[in-house]
Amino acid sequence: MSPVTKEDVLRALGQVVVPEDGKDVVESGLIDGVAIKDGNVHVSMTAGDTEAAKALEPLRQAAQRAVAAMAGVTSATVILTAERPRPAAAKPEPAPAGRPAVPGIRHMVAVGSGKGGVGKSTTAVNLAMALAQLGQRVGLLDADIYGPSLPRMMGITGKPKTQDGKKLLPMEAFGVKVMSMGFLIDEDAPMIWRGPMVQSALQQMLGDVLWGELDVLVIDLPPGTGDAQLTMAQRVPLSGAVIVSTPQDIALLDARKAINMFRKVDVPVLGVVENMAYYCCPNCGHRAEIFGHGGARATAERYETAFLGEIPLTLEIRETSDAGTPIVVSAPESAQAAAYRSVGEAVGVALSGRKAKPFPRIVYA
Ligand code: ADP
Repeated sequence: MSPVTKEDVLRALGQVVVPEDGKDVVESGLIDGVAIKDGNVHVSMTAGDTEAAKALEPLRQAAQRAVAAMAGVTSATVILTAERPRPAAAKPEPAPAGRPAVPGIRHMVAVGSGKGGVGKSTTAVNLAMALAQLGQRVGLLDADIYGPSLPRMMGITGKPKTQDGKKLLPMEAFGVKVMSMGFLIDEDAPMIWRGPMVQSALQQMLGDVLWGELDVLVIDLPPGTGDAQLTMAQRVPLSGAVIVSTPQDIALLDARKAINMFRKVDVPVLGVVENMAYYCCPNCGHRAEIFGHGGARATAERYETAFLGEIPLTLEIRETSDAGTPIVVSAPESAQAAAYRSVGEAVGVALSGRKAKPFPRIVYA
């Protein structure tokens, strides 16, 4: 079967009629962009403002159904961009181009949390390593602009290089390609991030980096559910989001906010990871549930998403993380590394729940 082209997609969209004016969505100028990658189709539709976006929701769904029904389409996402294209005379800025796909990257998975300090970055790093051990070609993007910690956690120093003076080569550690704002800015320099800066930084880290062919790009988002996070969730063509939470009620409350944020912008929530689920005494093996236990599983059930697994609270996880040698690579035989691999497998299953094929080659290290 020949691959789906932009023209095919526009033809399918031409069947979706705007009830108000009898024209189809293409004629009405509502289609902002079409991106196709391996049968995964992303379409962005322009909506004026939030109110207009609400009114256009049925049309968005109809457009998504029309594209999804096409032969050769494995997944279809139509999103509404709640901004008008800027007039040509306006100062050039990174165009609000919806969620353009990044060529060569099969799945982008965001790791988010409702608040800081729950172990989101630690989970993102070890999840990336676990996926690599499961045979995936993995990239790790540190989008935590407020506190980029991946260079330290991965033990990477130095700055990314460029071959052509235009695009950056990602750094690499333990077989995973890594890019972080931390490589480009001084870790101690205070920065105030405004909306357009967040957008352009992210755009650069995605589009101006030679990622090459990746099965999964794990994206460590800033903690919380503010503007920066929302912008990222909206702008990046995410296959889904993984929510990290500790088991206490108060943390879970924030996790719920994160779930709702992703859903609001149509990013599938792949599931919830319970971090610091229990403490295993290294001396006597006694298991203590310091923050309670099972809350994340209950939250996942209540919000009809998957429970991706639990990670214990252990000294080794903290120490290896601080030392720049994540536990999954420094102690691959440990129970903790196995716990992260199990989360990696669950993420694979959650991705396969969507139409796109999950990881192509699962091999055990
Ligand atoms: P976040 O990204 O949510 O702010 P981090 O990943 O930076 O959180 O983790 C915060 C601190 O908790 C770090 O010192 C990290 O080493 C530690 N940590 C995270 N997960 C665990 C765990 N499962 N066991 C022990 N320490 C952990």
